[in-house]
Amino acid sequence: METQQEKEILRGGQFIVKETKCEDVFTPEDFNEEQKMMRDSVKEFNDREIIPHKDRFEAKDYALTEEVMRKAGEMGFLSVSVPEAYGGMGMSFVSTMIVCEYISSGTGSFSTAFGAHTGIGTMPITLYGTEEQKKKYVPKLASGEWFGAYALTEPGAGSDANSGKTTATLSEDGKSYKINGQKMWISNAGFCSLFIVFARIENDKNITGFIVEQDPSNGITLGEEENKLGIHASSTRQVFFNDTVVPVENMLAGRGEGFKIAMNALNIGRIKLAAACLDSQRRITTTAVEYANERKQFNTRISDFGAIKRKLAEMATSTYAGESASYRAAKNIEDRIAMRQAAGNSHQEAELKGVEEYAIECSILKVAVSEDLQNCADEGIQIFGGMGFSKDTPMEAAWRDARIARIYEGTNEINRMLSVGMLVKKAMKGHVDLLGPAQAVADELLGIPSFDTPDYSELFAEEKEMIAKLKKVFLMVAGAAVQKFGPDLEGHQQLLLAASDILIEIYMAESTILRAEKNAKRFGEKDQEIQIAMAKLYLYNAVSIVEKNGKESIISFAEGDEQRMLLMGLRRFVKYTNYPDIVDLRNTIAEKVKAENKYNL
Ligand SMILES: Cc1cc2nc3c(=O)[nH]c(=O)nc-3n(C[C@H](O)[C@H](O)[C@H](O)COP(=O)(O)OP(=O)(O)OC[C@H]3O[C@@H](n4cnc5c(N)ncnc54)[C@H](O)[C@@H]3O)c2cc1C
Repeated sequence: METQQEKEILRGGQFIVKETKCEDVFTPEDFNEEQKMMRDSVKEFNDREIIPHKDRFEAKDYALTEEVMRKAGEMGFLSVSVPEAYGGMGMSFVSTMIVCEYISSGTGSFSTAFGAHTGIGTMPITLYGTEEQKKKYVPKLASGEWFGAYALTEPGAGSDANSGKTTATLSEDGKSYKINGQKMWISNAGFCSLFIVFARIENDKNITGFIVEQDPSNGITLGEEENKLGIHASSTRQVFFNDTVVPVENMLAGRGEGFKIAMNALNIGRIKLAAACLDSQRRITTTAVEYANERKQFNTRISDFGAIKRKLAEMATSTYAGESASYRAAKNIEDRIAMRQAAGNSHQEAELKGVEEYAIECSILKVAVSEDLQNCADEGIQIFGGMGFSKDTPMEAAWRDARIARIYEGTNEINRMLSVGMLVKKAMKGHVDLLGPAQAVADELLGIPSFDTPDYSELFAEEKEMIAKLKKVFLMVAGAAVQKFGPDLEGHQQLLLAASDILIEIYMAESTILRAEKNAKRFGEKDQEIQIAMAKLYLYNAVSIVEKNGKESIISFAEGDEQRMLLMGLRRFVKYTNYPDIVDLRNTIAEKVKAENKYNL
């Protein structure tokens, strides 16, 4: 049951039909003193324990990853999201995002080990474990005495995670299960002390989760370390279970509940993965501008060339956008958890429901930030020219390490389709009213457009109007597609991908504008000149993406008069009254980044 308080904050996915006020979004500028201290302490740890050893991580020094994980445990960083009752710090959701963000930028190897342990390796127990399970395992995981791994994927079951063939068979005395099967791509497998294993009991429709202690004498064997493109020192191995005996007390939640556990653990993993990409983007931008300010060609610093300025501006802008959207969603989750707790839910229930509510935003962030990181690293290589292609400079490893973020925690294709699919489901359940607003857009298309001269004197007045119009594009396209295909929409994947890109761009652009607006109101427009420019640049790019995807969608499912009407609507909704001077915006942003010689926005 939804509480009264919960009704007052935007539900997950509701951003697409409702306006958000800038005062209602949380931004990185809102970090409190404790959060800033935590951030600085994690940064210092990263600078001391990880960055200086990048060569060793690249040389596949798996032992180093384990050693640094232990040190992170000593510092308490593995326990931030674990409740105090089980030896953790019980920090807020936003604080746990901060730790995840700043600990992850040194190397993808450590970032993956950290994420796999603290997220999918520990959270299933804190969120679904019984009191006994939590007491027995969580304190060890929180301190770093033990490390966790998450064994879901199998050779034949990747994206289709519920199709695994690993079995769990109850013993005759009913006291234990025997697990048999093969898991693949298991992060931390080489040094973990326990696995969260998903297996099927008899012919159950859904898999079941188990806590399985690592014990080679109990039928657990490991494959060799995988030879990977990136994240070289992250341990990734196959795990074979051969008559592995697991006491019945180690079943997580209930029989057949494993798929739900797996999906909810991934929701948290997705938003944390976005956080884990952010500081990497920042470091890549900083490294790129440092090089561009040094490197001369044609007797000119390359950072003075328009082509390089364009790249620096886009890199900084996507980083700023990623920060804006990630912390907006993180605070929504945190608030929802707090409200649920205030209404009497246990921490466990509150956290589960809080994150589940914003699963759409988690998928959006996972896709957007992982792709922005990849683009950033790619442009970083380009700025370094030939040197960018050399293993002796940092861009090469950053680019390779970034690549995995688009694959794990659900591929970006799966997350794109999920984001729209979940939104449509929420609409069907009546949690988000898409139908009413979609009908209003359809009516508007039949009406005569207003020719009034709008008043754009207030900061972001036109941009906010653009956001409202982009939302209409989504409602127009999604509404018409749902009407046309009904439940068969699921089979029209290219349409779903296009709709998802529209949804993603709207969330990212709106979050960026709201952050810049909030900060301009409190720190002044002059102070926020660059941030305002970034918000405008991000929106302009978003409008182009929305236009492209909107057009593609409409042409794919509408014909004749309907197609003409929808395309006309699209043109109306992506049209600025006053187009921003994008070259000027990029130059302004780039000059700031150049002058600071780092990303400092
Ligand atoms: C380095 C690394 C670490 C990992 N760590 C872990 C871990 O710790 N624990 C764990 O359980 N797993 C882990 N994984 C597995 C990872 O989650 C899977 O690789 C991922 O979910 C994709 O599954 P797959 O590789 O089988 O690809 P597939 O599912 O075969 O997908 C291949 C392609 O087909 C697309 N595709 C698949 N299904 C559909 C569909 N229905 N519609 C449209 N397109 C589709 C995908 O998007 C992708 O582009 C890891 C993987 C790697 C590479």
